Amino acid sequence: RVVVVGSLNVDSTAYVRSFPAPGETITAHGLRVALGGKGTNQAVAAHRFGADVELLARVGDDANARLARDTLAGFGLATDGLGIEPDAPTGVALITVADSGENTVIVASGANERMSPAVVAGARERVADAGAVLTQGELPVATIERIAEVAREAGTRFVLNLAPPVEVSPDTLAAADPLVVNEHEARAVGIEPGDAIDGWLAAASAAVERGLAQSVVVTLGAAGAVAAERSDADGRVTAWTQPAPEVTPVDTTGAGDGFTGTLAAALAAGHPLVDAVRLATAAGALAVQQRGTVDSYADRDAVVAAADA
Ligand code: ADP
Repeated sequence: RVVVVGSLNVDSTAYVRSFPAPGETITAHGLRVALGGKGTNQAVAAHRFGADVELLARVGDDANARLARDTLAGFGLATDGLGIEPDAPTGVALITVADSGENTVIVASGANERMSPAVVAGARERVADAGAVLTQGELPVATIERIAEVAREAGTRFVLNLAPPVEVSPDTLAAADPLVVNEHEARAVGIEPGDAIDGWLAAASAAVERGLAQSVVVTLGAAGAVAAERSDADGRVTAWTQPAPEVTPVDTTGAGDGFTGTLAAALAAGHPLVDAVRLATAAGALAVQQRGTVDSYADRDAVVAAADA
């Protein structure tokens, strides 16, 4: 089982020829309304990989919350972990995509900001019997820190996707097993690469050596990922690269979340980190070949087949 404590947003994307100037009203040539938020995306990916997932998130008492519940139920996910905040709106991301391919994003966190440390403390028992607890940077910092504490007390594996790269305490980072970051987030926590992939390998290894986190996974887009962990047997740090399958990307949104959700599900199922990273990389590569975010995640059989190819 995987407990995901995370954000839930409804993403409204307007496709426009070019961005409006201040004061200007323009007409979009397309609109897409979809479920999003990193926590929610990752919960769907973990569920698609076959994990029994419990998503703990906060929503408002509004139409977007109903859309979220319906969408999650459509995927077969339980929705009883969605707490209602009567005086806050469900989180919304307002996205514009211009014909040039550039985008702008405004996130109005709404009910996500109400995910308090107390909510996490109340979920102690559910965390205790999970194989992994997964969270991201889209929650209040005090809440992320409490999740790390609850996981440590319960002896449950703590997977931290520090996206966006908010400032959490060194203890919280040190508990992450693994800390999952993309290139930009890696730099923000002091994982500084030298040149190309070998530089990332050395940087991930050095980060685990100095105790930044229990283990580290850096996703590198089309180049796949690098990872480092300390062996339980002899305490030595090993680091490795995981190339991504070569594919033609159609839409890369949600690839990182597909990666991370799959990674947490594979770890909770008992796979060693090296296998989990291989499966997650395959899941990410499958996600970029489909449009959308939660709609782009493949099921377990497809992920396993792509990872073995
Ligand atoms: P983020 O979107 O969070 O920045 P990345 O761009 O690093 O994350 O992508 C996450 C994962 O998705 C990669 O590790 C890889 O597995 C997969 N991926 C992303 N882009 C591509 C691509 N062009 N080809 C193949 N796999 C990709």
